[in-house]
Amino acid sequence: MRSLLLSFLFLTITATAQQVNYSLRMDKPHNHYFQVTMELIDMKMAEPIIKMPVWAPGSYLVREFAKHVNQVSATDENGAKLPIVKLSKNAWKIKRGKAKRIIVDYEVYAFELSVRTSFLDASHGFVSGSGVFMFVDGLINKPGKLNVIPHASFKKVTTSLREAGESVAADGQFNFQYETYDELVDCPIEIGNHEVFTFNALGIPHTVAIYGEGNHSVDQLKTDMAKIVETTASVIGENPNDRYTFVIHNVVDGGGGLEHSNSCVLSLSRWDYTGSGYLGFLSLVAHEYFHLWNVKRIRPIELGPFDYDKENYTSLLWVMEGFTSYYDELLLRRAGIYSEKEYLDKLQSTINYVEGSVGSRVQPVAHASFDAWIKAYRPNENSSNTTMTYYSRGAMLGAILDADIISKYDGKKSLDDFLRVLYTKYYKQLNRGFTTEEFKQELSNFMGKSMNPFFEQYVDGTEVAPVAQAFMTLGLGVSTSKNERPSFGATLRQEGGKVIVKGIRAGSAAEDGGLSPNDEIIGYNGYRVDQSAVEQWLNGLAAGQSFKLLVSRDEKLFELAFTMTNYAKMQFQLSLPKEPNSKVNYWLRTTSK
Ligand SMILES: [Zn+2]
Repeated sequence: MRSLLLSFLFLTITATAQQVNYSLRMDKPHNHYFQVTMELIDMKMAEPIIKMPVWAPGSYLVREFAKHVNQVSATDENGAKLPIVKLSKNAWKIKRGKAKRIIVDYEVYAFELSVRTSFLDASHGFVSGSGVFMFVDGLINKPGKLNVIPHASFKKVTTSLREAGESVAADGQFNFQYETYDELVDCPIEIGNHEVFTFNALGIPHTVAIYGEGNHSVDQLKTDMAKIVETTASVIGENPNDRYTFVIHNVVDGGGGLEHSNSCVLSLSRWDYTGSGYLGFLSLVAHEYFHLWNVKRIRPIELGPFDYDKENYTSLLWVMEGFTSYYDELLLRRAGIYSEKEYLDKLQSTINYVEGSVGSRVQPVAHASFDAWIKAYRPNENSSNTTMTYYSRGAMLGAILDADIISKYDGKKSLDDFLRVLYTKYYKQLNRGFTTEEFKQELSNFMGKSMNPFFEQYVDGTEVAPVAQAFMTLGLGVSTSKNERPSFGATLRQEGGKVIVKGIRAGSAAEDGGLSPNDEIIGYNGYRVDQSAVEQWLNGLAAGQSFKLLVSRDEKLFELAFTMTNYAKMQFQLSLPKEPNSKVNYWLRTTSK
């Protein structure tokens, strides 16, 4: 399979160094296949190996993108077929013989619309590069070009890739260039007839591409997104980009985003641009924009340059995702969107969620980071008993460190300053990531004391975080209480007319009585029940009261006996100081004009 297009497609290229150029077509968008052509120029390797990444950076799961690749073929400059051999799940070897220029063709099935996967149908195309573009092993740091030939019904292509000088959008094609393969796949591409607008923030043009209808207001987005961008950029005080692109997908049931160096992809429920949904959107904008520093430039050494063949393990996602989650709310306060009280309530609910979770006492946040690949991204019915999200616990630890820093420096420095130290030293001076040990050492230097106990207890350990200590030193009121009440400990859901047990809390009355996930509950003390009836009965019980449930497991009916027990959760309550306090004022300052 090779198209006649090719001869003029790459006509302008006169490179002599080894280089890889791509062309992307979508001949029949409704069948969800992208056609990709790679041109390998001036190959020196006897048998070049081409590979499809197994994961998308920023999303820590092996997704096996090669499973969507079909019809891989290779030809030489004269169109003669070259032998190609599959080496492993994601690698192919080309026997080039004497060919200097090799053309590789393949198709990619793209039918999963998310921020980290690719999609194509008659309404639009979205390219998340690591699932569409293969790379030549050993040539990952070479520059090249990308030619996008949209389907005739698609008029726009939006990406942060730099346009290639010669023929932008002439003849309906779009030409881009990249410096490294990392850059190519770090710039998602939206193709179709989406809405596009721009705004300037800090003198930098920001392009917004919105696919799908929604109840957003472009004027409001321009104002609010610029405000969020400016507030976020003030944390580090320097924006390394000269352009930035937001790709927004308005879908039925959206949520989430993925960061890139000079762009991001956001997914949103299309009618969610009002009330708390809109606040959630602004927080998501702050989150992904903050990542252009924290994770893309201030980063663990394991997260770039990437190994696209396998898991890239780091124990620092609690900093990368956790600190980013801490800032995505704090920045809404700094932008003047939340009042001090509203912000404090947000932080308090994060703390209470973390410290009230069973998994918080089981999985250290450093382990949660390292095992993201097999746990956070592959949850099962028992996950809440065994895992703690590095987003929330990391956000809580970020808040505590921020409070400690502000107290230590008497309201003159904050976590911002520590992040600036990392940015300046590791990104700007050394141009590399840091090891976990280096991070620990830098934090110890900044705090003027060994942070080993902090790591042992709260990062590599599962102890209750020193919330009261940190925030009382800052001047907040902190009260703790034990919220103890009867709780059965089973999560129920009505499915197909049946009451199904979806999860069991460890140590609960439900577990002690022998209930299991997937059990169907049919009766309570001799009476047939639906979900609301059984929940009503259970909610009316005090600790010590006994009852029986009629259960079906694998079609077998039997009764189980239970005794209701109390479940205690520690609750923190944060309150603003009664008198003005310079440290709290500094922490919760608004920086937006
Ligand atoms: Zn994130």
